[in-house]
Amino acid sequence: MKTGIVSVFTNETTLSADVETLLKQKLTSKGYKVTDGYDNEAELLICIGGDGAFLRTMHRCDFPETPIVGINTGHLGFFQEVWPEDFDQFLADYERGNYTIQKLGTVMCKATDAEGNTSTHIALNELAITGSNAYSIHFDLSIGGKPIERFSGDGILVATSAGSTAYNYSVGGSIVDPRLNLLQVTPIAPMNTTAYRSFTSSILLPSDLTLGIVPEESDKIIYITGDGIEKGYSHLKEIEVRTADKCVNLIRFSDYDFWNKVKEKFL
Ligand code: NAP
Ligand code: MN
Repeated sequence: MKTGIVSVFTNETTLSADVETLLKQKLTSKGYKVTDGYDNEAELLICIGGDGAFLRTMHRCDFPETPIVGINTGHLGFFQEVWPEDFDQFLADYERGNYTIQKLGTVMCKATDAEGNTSTHIALNELAITGSNAYSIHFDLSIGGKPIERFSGDGILVATSAGSTAYNYSVGGSIVDPRLNLLQVTPIAPMNTTAYRSFTSSILLPSDLTLGIVPEESDKIIYITGDGIEKGYSHLKEIEVRTADKCVNLIRFSDYDFWNKVKEKFL
């Protein structure tokens, strides 16, 4: 809905702060009311920074459905669509409705401890479930409630399609076109010996299946890291990972092409 309210988020760099000042002037002179931080009546969210800034904005606002555009003052920017110098063109296209919305799915997990207390995590890129660097961890993994393997190693990563080009790619996962709504489960340094056996490649799960993780030694600290935000747990009994209900609505120009971005970044 066109409310005339735009919420702006900015990371800490001086370049982003300068871009923020300029964009706010442009928006105000066009009659928009600009707010710092999330306003639930905003018609548009603007995030100035790199992909990390985009992720932090999503976490800070709890993954709102409001359309969001990223202004890139970071690096290549998988989420960040617009260069600061193209902002006027963006605003003209935005006002004419000359853009598309890319819907990005999210991943969530519910962690339950020995006393039955639960906590949840949500992420746009990935959830990493790991031990400390000092030891390997052992998990019993199940898919859709059915036991599949006993994992041993550093941990596992459950990435969304949008997150497939981030940490997932570094640990040997596949790049996934974000039009595919799936979860990619990738082992991090799996041990494969006569004593331990687990998949060495990624496995792909449809959006309606849950991955169950039961840590073997519940006294070891297990870290759940969503988009780089880490939390450690002792005495975890079970973790259930699945696709989350929340979707991010990212504004893209009509010439946006995921594979072009991939080619620019990796080849
Ligand atoms: P960071 O350590 O500063 O960022 C790692 C890099 O990942 C940055 O270059 C970031 O881009 C880029 N990135 C983030 N999301 C991406 C995506 N969807 N596709 C391609 N590249 C992406 O941490 P951060 O900036 O807070 O980002 C958090 C993310 O870092 C996590 O979600 C995880 O995916 C990633 N990470 C990667 C590794 C690894 O590759 N070994 C290890 C830990 C975490 P910008 O420079 O534009 O921010
Ligand atoms: Mn970063």
